[in-house]
Amino acid sequence: MSVQSKKSFAAIDYQRCDPKTCAPDTGLCPAVSACTHKVIKQLDGVFESPMIFQDMCMGCWDCIAACPLNAIVVKHVGT
Ligand code: SF4
Ligand code: SF4
Repeated sequence: MSVQSKKSFAAIDYQRCDPKTCAPDTGLCPAVSACTHKVIKQLDGVFESPMIFQDMCMGCWDCIAACPLNAIVVKHVGT
């Protein structure tokens, strides 16, 4: 695991994200538990898409590895 620049962070692609597909039994987003920094949360409850507190994202990309639907993408800010 490498921690990258604060200028890169993870973001949810809400067109792809579907907790009913990736976690049909529990509705718990696997990427939430994968994020050891606890910056992804299902604020609206289970079976709802999570959100990422991007200011606190460490850019470790563990969430991307954990999402089976490729619904988490890397965003870059600045140049
Ligand atoms: S971000 Fe990925 S793992 Fe999490 S609920 Fe959406 S599709 Fe599932
Ligand atoms: S890149 Fe790492 S710190 Fe950022 S949301 Fe994903 S798992 Fe959490």
